[in-house]
Amino acid sequence: MEVANKYVTLKTHIEGAPKESDFELKTSPLALSLDPSSDEIIVKNLYVSIDPYQLNRMKLYNSSQKMGAGLEGITLGKEIEAYGVAKVVVSDNVEFEKGDVVVGVITWAEYSKIRGNGMIRKLDPLGFPLSYHVGLFGYSGLAAYAGFFEICKPKQGEKVFVSAASGSVGNMVGQYAKLLGCYVVGCAGSKQKVELLKEKLGFDDAFNYKGETDLNSTLKRYFPDGIDIYFDNVGAEMLEAAVANMNTYGRVAVCGATSEYTDPGKRAAPNMLDVIYKRIKIQGFLAWDHMDVFEDFISTTGNCLRSGQMHPLEDFSNGVETIPAAFVGLFRGDNIGKKIVKIPQD
Ligand code: NAP
Repeated sequence: MEVANKYVTLKTHIEGAPKESDFELKTSPLALSLDPSSDEIIVKNLYVSIDPYQLNRMKLYNSSQKMGAGLEGITLGKEIEAYGVAKVVVSDNVEFEKGDVVVGVITWAEYSKIRGNGMIRKLDPLGFPLSYHVGLFGYSGLAAYAGFFEICKPKQGEKVFVSAASGSVGNMVGQYAKLLGCYVVGCAGSKQKVELLKEKLGFDDAFNYKGETDLNSTLKRYFPDGIDIYFDNVGAEMLEAAVANMNTYGRVAVCGATSEYTDPGKRAAPNMLDVIYKRIKIQGFLAWDHMDVFEDFISTTGNCLRSGQMHPLEDFSNGVETIPAAFVGLFRGDNIGKKIVKIPQD
């Protein structure tokens, strides 16, 4: 049997903010059969993850592209690898059977063919919706958990600032920090997002950074006694203002720099004298370096979601053809929570 497989490709390398016209939706015939001993599987995709870091793979060159599997530059016209949840339709791999639900690296497509050594595993949904395993229990959640607990080493009562706080990673950081008993302020790009952070997610305070002209004084206003922990998702001037407002022995977890991804001329230049004299620790990290805490992360997060102490925040679009718009929207702040594209099943 053969199907017409729809998938998204990159038409041109992207150096600034992405546009929908940078992508092309293609359709190719795909035989739902495998050569014996190929070790491959073919999956029907159910949910695909939409992530800001993919923009760095879409540039002609970026130093991050040399940093390991999954971060390489994307080849024009080819399928684009992305995290997601899928169902096995054909298997020539002893580890998988038809009907297995899997999670890992698939593609921005209806169907993906995955090599024997692909980064994919069988999924136990743990009683949660499958989509939770794309973001909440995926790398967004792990980045939030490991970045906050392992990198920031928080203590109860400390004052925590989170940027892109209504996003996939940011909202979970703020919720973990509240559960620990920290004072938490988040920033986000709209009034609606600010309300959500305060009313639904229990942040102590929140502000719309787009309405602020001097971020240094904004942070002084929200943190008159200084910031102990800054969880950075955006980089540039927000990082500079946070460092200027950090307390002695403050910690900065550098998770992402979204505002720098779209603007090659934009770079954070924090005051290094502040860093030295206030003994501030600034540390970048990658979620997948922290697989040692994966089990703790899943059980803590699962328990908090079951008991209602944490709220899931997901943002869906429907169909492969919506992937370019969903991706472009990340850089306009369209999403609230984890951006996921659901692939309809026949
Ligand atoms: P996300 O926050 O769900 O989505 C991106 C958000 O960034 C948008 O909703 C928008 O919200 C904000 N944004 C877009 N352009 C901006 C700009 N120019 N300035 C300030 N904010 C801007 O994305 P995510 O998946 O949670 O990722 C957050 C960051 O963490 C990204 O930089 C990502 O690459 C990084 N990350 C790192 C790891 C790791 O292992 N280190 C893992 C996952 C993600 P507003 O409306 O608030 O502007």
